[in-house]
Amino acid sequence: MNCKICGNVLEFDDAFSYCKNCGFIAKKNQICSLEEKNRYLLHQDSSQYHMYLRQLYHDKFYEYEEILDFGSGQYLALQKSFSNFKITSYDFYFSKINYIDKMYDVIVLNEVIEHLSEPIKVLTELKKLLKPMGRFLIQTGLTDEISNIRNWWYTRDITHISFFHTKTFKYISSLLNLEYFKDDKFIILKHK
Ligand SMILES: [Zn+2]
Repeated sequence: MNCKICGNVLEFDDAFSYCKNCGFIAKKNQICSLEEKNRYLLHQDSSQYHMYLRQLYHDKFYEYEEILDFGSGQYLALQKSFSNFKITSYDFYFSKINYIDKMYDVIVLNEVIEHLSEPIKVLTELKKLLKPMGRFLIQTGLTDEISNIRNWWYTRDITHISFFHTKTFKYISSLLNLEYFKDDKFIILKHK
């Protein structure tokens, strides 16, 4: 089996597959969609979480921009936290709206990409919806500082199945012909 990101031959242990080329790590046992949905139904909404999102995103986009929150979750928390902004919330389980007839300045994947079994397929499709100066804002736990993924708390969530290193995102940016940026909280992939 080859890496879903770069096509390199993978190495395995009993729980994960590892790509030595791009740093992508995937869980071998992936759950079914019913299990996945049930797990998401346990998520709770709170004013603290809205406050956290407002702090995290306060300088990340503008009111005049079209924003897609891809994988918004059932509570559409980003949209509610930025109610004056033009945010479209799509979620495969909870907000199955038609989001593809619009173009976006910003596509947000807030704690979403680690849930995707086919991240390149999804990003390739989403890139078609990015305006010429548009950008992806991606928030996920990175494996950069992790010495042994088997001890990493982030893997304990059964819905987390894909794990990325900054070099994985650098590889993805060149694959999708996007510019790569990183700040302390986000991976930003921008149209060149
Ligand atoms: Zn790879």
